[in-house]
Amino acid sequence: MAFRNFKMVSYVVYGRGSFNQLDEILAPQRKGSAPMIFLVDHFFEKKPLTGRIPLRGKDSVILVDVTHEPKTSYVDKLAGRLKEEFGVVSGIIGIGGGSAMDLAKAVSLMMTNPGSSADYQGWDLVKAPGVYKAGIPTLSGTGAEVSRTTVLTGPTKKLGMNSDFTPFDQIVLDPELAGNVPANQRFYTGMDCYIHCIESLQGTYLNEFSKSYGEKALQLCQRVFLEKKIWDEESDDQLMMASYAGGMSIAYSQVGVAHAVSYGLSYLLGTKHGVGNCIVFDKLEEYYPAGVYEFKKMVEKNKIDIPQHITKGLTDAQFEAMIDVSMVMKPLWENALGKDWEKIMTREKLRALYEQF
Ligand code: NAD
Ligand code: ZN
Repeated sequence: MAFRNFKMVSYVVYGRGSFNQLDEILAPQRKGSAPMIFLVDHFFEKKPLTGRIPLRGKDSVILVDVTHEPKTSYVDKLAGRLKEEFGVVSGIIGIGGGSAMDLAKAVSLMMTNPGSSADYQGWDLVKAPGVYKAGIPTLSGTGAEVSRTTVLTGPTKKLGMNSDFTPFDQIVLDPELAGNVPANQRFYTGMDCYIHCIESLQGTYLNEFSKSYGEKALQLCQRVFLEKKIWDEESDDQLMMASYAGGMSIAYSQVGVAHAVSYGLSYLLGTKHGVGNCIVFDKLEEYYPAGVYEFKKMVEKNKIDIPQHITKGLTDAQFEAMIDVSMVMKPLWENALGKDWEKIMTREKLRALYEQF
């Protein structure tokens, strides 16, 4: 058996106000006059955070549109524009939720790898290290800050650029930046973390490494979404660390049924990752009974709306398309249901599940 030898983020800074150290952190990474490029979630347009970005020389802020999850065409456009405008850049800094961070990772890789980002959707297809890249989450839950993937929707599939070159060189975990996220959004992305934990802890790939991180992240999610009376700074601190630990847990295991199924929804209907996972997980009693029971309590306590009937009226061809996207996620299914997963999760069974959403 070959043990996974996985690449981690090189540097981590954590703490309220640690964003203020960014100038100092980036200084040694600057290569002559080549600029640092800040890809900032469009939510922060004209917000105070944008004014706090430590710009030097030709540094540039690009507000990225995260209305839809990142597409390979958008990544290619951004990388093309930077190559044309600057030739060489010192680094790419992603500031925002999972979408902005994934864009930053992918653009960094496409500054040095030829062709389209769609050519690298898969496992270990990226050949060259990208330029220096840093991630600064403003929304907690996806674990994109620690993962070795950047999830992209391409012309034929929704699949990440999974590689040892994908993790960030630096992350800045400043929980202050995740204050004031609207309740529904905070819940959907927070539940991404909760679902990572359940899928990792109940999976067949589980080992003590994943379990240690998964249990801690799960406990933090339970505190934040079930036990706490009010939302406060401590909740932001805890959820940011839950996201980190949940990401570390799946780094050495895998996610499971909710993720495999929600990829289909997002490919066909553009359903975003966090809410999509909630829509699916809500109906997965058969696979994760205790987790789903607790999830429903969290939904109720936090007064969250989970969209219903989103697949109503879809055609057979559309259901087939979602099933195709989902079935490609073999490691997820194997983690969830074991080596014989194909006998358990048939196309008919998956169709019946999709019809429930
Ligand atoms: P997101 O990045 O798509 O952002 C969701 C919304 O929240 C956006 O409207 C954004 O503008 C807003 N937002 C961000 N920060 C905010 C703040 N501080 N205050 C108010 N609003 C804010 O959401 P997400 O759930 O963080 O990320 C989802 C994306 O991450 C998907 O594209 C998914 O595929 C990807 N993902 C990647 C990984 C990975 O390992 N690379 C893992 C899970 C998910
Ligand atoms: Zn996820």
